Amino acid sequence: MGTEPKPRIVLAEGVSDSALQRLQAAGEVVRLEKHDHATLLAAVPEADALLVRTYAQVNAEVIAAAAKTGRLKVIGRAGVGVDNIDVTAAKQAGIVVVNTPAASTIAVAELVVGLIVAVQRGFVFLDPRVRQGEFASLRAGIPKVTELHNQTLGVIGMGRIGRQVGARMHNGMGMRVVYYDIREIGWLPFPAQTCGSAEEVYAQADVVTMHVPLTRLTRGMINAATLAHFKPGAYLINASRGPVVEAQALADALREGRLAGAAIDVYDPEPPPPDHPLMTAPNCILTPHIASRTREAITAMNDVVDDVIGVLAGKPPMYPAEPEQV
Ligand code: NAD
Repeated sequence: MGTEPKPRIVLAEGVSDSALQRLQAAGEVVRLEKHDHATLLAAVPEADALLVRTYAQVNAEVIAAAAKTGRLKVIGRAGVGVDNIDVTAAKQAGIVVVNTPAASTIAVAELVVGLIVAVQRGFVFLDPRVRQGEFASLRAGIPKVTELHNQTLGVIGMGRIGRQVGARMHNGMGMRVVYYDIREIGWLPFPAQTCGSAEEVYAQADVVTMHVPLTRLTRGMINAATLAHFKPGAYLINASRGPVVEAQALADALREGRLAGAAIDVYDPEPPPPDHPLMTAPNCILTPHIASRTREAITAMNDVVDDVIGVLAGKPPMYPAEPEQV
């Protein structure tokens, strides 16, 4: 009786050293130099497992290439948001997709809390001016800045992250919370008022924060027409996915002073090119897609390898990903 060949595990994007060791104990690990379409197409027919993070695009064509040999059993996505994987096509091809839905919830919520306070008080814009000697002039006159206490936070997408942001801003800052979600949310551990549409949220909120997945419905959800519903002087936070916000429309609203400020963690494309509209937009804090980059979240995201190893060994998946709604 011959020994079973080791499963071939293809890494399209990196994993932590500890996760790599666990994979190497379970199979033959192949690291791809690049994760572009042609590289993925060439690699998947000979893979038993494929590991990706945010940028490798496992579309229907890549799934079809894998299905030709029928060897690929599992795709592991380290993180949450499976918009880079055609989960429906994978399901049809009998390929399991696993992810780590809750790994970065707290990390993202904490960054968003920080971004809301930072953009609303404007202190990141003041720091360089203090260094340029403007201390006294920055303190002169009657301040325009208001307090977040008793203001309204609008949450679009009251899922795992949206509710952690809502809880923190209500309990910590005394904000009133309104939200819109396409599904029934039910009980929440803090008072929050549901709205019948996203536009109703925009019309009431002093700060709007986006926590939707990237889907057909949410792509371009913030655009010139929807920004027209925002309260004058409101703030927008986007730590969901870049294409959820039409960057030019947001930049125009900031330049014209219709919005008071924005804080953006995600872009379309990433990294944003030098001529990306938000690169020069005023009152806009830009962070480099770091919402989930805490030690705890990165460790938890890398745990996707255990689910992948389990599926290769014939166990049921612990965190199967479903196709994003619509
Ligand atoms: P989740 O699935 O728990 O919550 C998403 C919520 O959005 C759900 O309640 C869903 O019903 C709702 N929704 C879907 N489509 C909608 C629509 N058209 N209008 C209103 N609501 C809609 O997901 P989560 O864990 O809270 O994560 C949300 C998103 O955040 C992820 O899909 C991912 O794209 C993004 N994310 C970004 C980072 C980052 O580093 N910046 C890290 C993690 C997650």
